[in-house]
Amino acid sequence: MRVPMIAGNWKMNTTVSEAVELVNEMRQELDQIDNVDKIVCPPFISLATVRELIKGSSIKLGAQNIYFEEKGAYTGEISPPMLADLCEFVIIGHSERRQYFNETGEITNKKIRAALKVNLKPILCVGEKLEENEAGRTEEIVTEQLKSSLAGIGYRNGLIIAYEPIWAIGTGKAATGEQANETIGLIRYNIVELYSKRAAQDMRILYGGSVNDVNTAEFMKQPEIDGALVGGASLKANQFLSIVKQTSEIRQTR
Ligand code: PEP
Repeated sequence: MRVPMIAGNWKMNTTVSEAVELVNEMRQELDQIDNVDKIVCPPFISLATVRELIKGSSIKLGAQNIYFEEKGAYTGEISPPMLADLCEFVIIGHSERRQYFNETGEITNKKIRAALKVNLKPILCVGEKLEENEAGRTEEIVTEQLKSSLAGIGYRNGLIIAYEPIWAIGTGKAATGEQANETIGLIRYNIVELYSKRAAQDMRILYGGSVNDVNTAEFMKQPEIDGALVGGASLKANQFLSIVKQTSEIRQTR
C-alpha cells in the first residue's frame, strides 16, 4: 500500500515570521493525522526555522529547488549537502522553474542525480501546457519529460512524481479527477517501462494544479492518485488541514 502524501509548495511566499505563524496554526492538528505523509516546502530562508518548529512531530520538510553542484562559486545557489542537512524532500522540475528559469530535462536530470546522491527524496514535476493538452499531446509531453528527467538514473525508493498540468497551476481550473487519474496511470505505465512493475507499484504519484478543500475528494478517490502537491491552498492553514483530513478519511475507507 502506498502511503498518501500531501505536500504544500509555498512558492515565493511568506517571510520567516509568516512561515512561523503558518506552521504554528496547523502543526498540532496535522501531527494527529498519521495515515498521510504531510510535507511543507517553505522558501529556503525559512527551512531551518520551520525545521525546529516541526521537530518531534510527524510533519516533514521539503525544499522547492536545488542546485546540482556540491559547492563552489555559484552565487545565490543552494547545494545538495546544504539541503540534506535540513530536509527530506526537494521539488525538482516545477513548471515555474522550467518556464521562468529555463530549466530543461537535462538540468532536471542533473538535479535529481544530485539530490539522490545525498539521499534527498525528489518530487519530480511533469505536466503539459494548455495548447499541448488541447492538441492531444499530453501523453507525448509527459513521457518525454519523464524520460529526459530520469535518463540513466536507476530506480530509487523514495522518488516521487507529481503530475501538474500547467494550465491547472494557480488558475483555479483544476483537471477533473478522471483526467488526472488517466494521465497518472500513464505515468505509472512509463515507470514500468523505465524501471519495473514493482517500482511502478511502489512509486507515489501525486496530482497538482488548483487542489483545494472543495475538490480534494475528487482526486483522492481515484485509484492511481497517491496525494497532491498543493500551491495556493497550502498557504491557508485551514485549507491545507482540510485537504490532509479529507485525504486521511478517504484512504481509511478505501
Ligand atoms: C504548484 O505550485 O505546484 C501548484 C499545484 O499550485 P496551485 O495549487 O496553486 O495550482
